[in-house]
Amino acid sequence: MELTLNNGIKIPAVGLGVWQTAKGEETVNAVQMAIKAGYRHIDTAMIYRNEAEVGEGIKLSNIDRDDIFLTTKLWNDDVRSRNTENAYQTSLELLGVDIVDLYLIHWAAEGYQEAWSAMEKLYDAKKVRAIGVSNFQIHHLEDIAKDAKYTPAVNQIESHPYFSNQELIDYCQDKGIVVTAYSPLGGRASDGNILADPTIVEIATKLDRTAAQIILRWHLQRGVVVIPKSKSEHRIIENFDIFNFELSSEDMQKISALNKNQKVGADPDNFGF
Ligand code: NDP
Repeated sequence: MELTLNNGIKIPAVGLGVWQTAKGEETVNAVQMAIKAGYRHIDTAMIYRNEAEVGEGIKLSNIDRDDIFLTTKLWNDDVRSRNTENAYQTSLELLGVDIVDLYLIHWAAEGYQEAWSAMEKLYDAKKVRAIGVSNFQIHHLEDIAKDAKYTPAVNQIESHPYFSNQELIDYCQDKGIVVTAYSPLGGRASDGNILADPTIVEIATKLDRTAAQIILRWHLQRGVVVIPKSKSEHRIIENFDIFNFELSSEDMQKISALNKNQKVGADPDNFGF
């Protein structure tokens, strides 16, 4: 299953996230396991310090590079120091690829407007297939829209049943910006928080699915791309096995009603890094 970005490029609806997947074997293995399980989308970032391992995992998988949708992100220090082009080149070298499918401004750090212009230049020079943002609120999006040549193809933001972020998602989707949910399972809290929620467990039991599959399916049916992280092969497989069932509109509403605006990540308007 794929979604189409505002420049016609397709993005697979389920990708593997690799934040906190350890450098070295753990990341190489996770990427290989995911590709074997059918994933064709990997989400990394310069600051995850595992771009080289992501590149290695892709190479070892023996799948054509062009069949993998690869995302990486411009870190805040490079936004602040107006270093977009060099940072992109460094990411390409670490990943061992000629081009990235999606390059995102990781956070709206000071200088993000200039970073967006620099991203547009990379795009115009055909050095990147699509450009977007992450952790951008409505006011950040409106700010760059004033001078922008292009609308971001993607906004990657926190979203899960306890922090649905629905207003921002609706705003983005209305503007043709594809939303990718990060921490789609509630991040590290998923160790026993959202995945044990009685409403989620009840729906999972009824449909003979796991709690994670129910939550990921809820995202897909809202038109949202997901990038669940796992280092375990059986969970990587489980998180991708969500295309052959459907949630009723009643169950969708029940899950949406769990929202309590409870974030697990940093505040995009007040982050200290
Ligand atoms: P997730 O919501 O993907 O949750 C990951 C946690 O859930 C891990 O502890 C994982 O453990 C566990 N898990 C995964 N699958 C299952 C399952 N089926 N059943 C039970 N537990 C499971 O959180 P993340 O915060 O990692 O977000 C996903 C990705 O989003 C990141 O890897 C990164 O790529 C991106 N991200 C982007 C941010 C941004 O600022 N743009 C911020 C945060 C994340 P285990 O590995 O042991 O399976």
